[in-house]
Amino acid sequence: MNCSFSIEHYGELLEAAKAGGYRFGHFDAVPERGDLLLRHDVDLSLDAALRMAELEAEAEVTSTYFLMTQSVFYNLASPEGTRALNRLRELGHGVGLHAVWPGAELDERFDAVVAWHNPDPDYMSEPLNGAVNVMQSPFFAPDNYRSDSNQRWRHGCPHHELSRGEFEWLQLLIHPEIWIYPGESMVGTMKSMLDAERDRRLELLAEDRIDLS
Ligand SMILES: [Zn+2]
Ligand SMILES: [Zn+2]
Repeated sequence: MNCSFSIEHYGELLEAAKAGGYRFGHFDAVPERGDLLLRHDVDLSLDAALRMAELEAEAEVTSTYFLMTQSVFYNLASPEGTRALNRLRELGHGVGLHAVWPGAELDERFDAVVAWHNPDPDYMSEPLNGAVNVMQSPFFAPDNYRSDSNQRWRHGCPHHELSRGEFEWLQLLIHPEIWIYPGESMVGTMKSMLDAERDRRLELLAEDRIDLS
């Protein structure tokens, strides 16, 4: 098996977790043996999030998508943002807030769960009022956490350990963009994302009655 950051291998990772006997949980109860908390921080692309969400639903997997209200790259308040949020709910996924410090204003769109975007160590694990911080105890512990940040696994791809049930429980942070857009490294993946984004934006311009002839 090739541990690429591709949608194919993401599907294999989910299958590995099922083979290892894991249950797909959310941030609403103390993690127990056999729980896999799939967390998706959506930093850049709602399109990538939706494609991953559809694949998970086909595999009968649920996860939690953390969406930004202050993203530089997408507008959650736009019709496109509302459609994405509704579709994630329809597919049965949780939706939390991917917040930019210090603003963690939850509204009715979100479950009571927050993941900070690019947090500093001094507030990263601090408990919040009225919401779960995904990096606080008992949802986070170093041995029960893996992340694909910047298209690099610090401890290797976790699919083997998952298939053998080696984690007591796991919070697995997956950034959809890294798996949906092709690229051997973060820079290549980001360039393919920007190419796709250009095509998408041309369509949006046409929809907005801009003359592109
Ligand atoms: Zn792998
Ligand atoms: Zn982020």
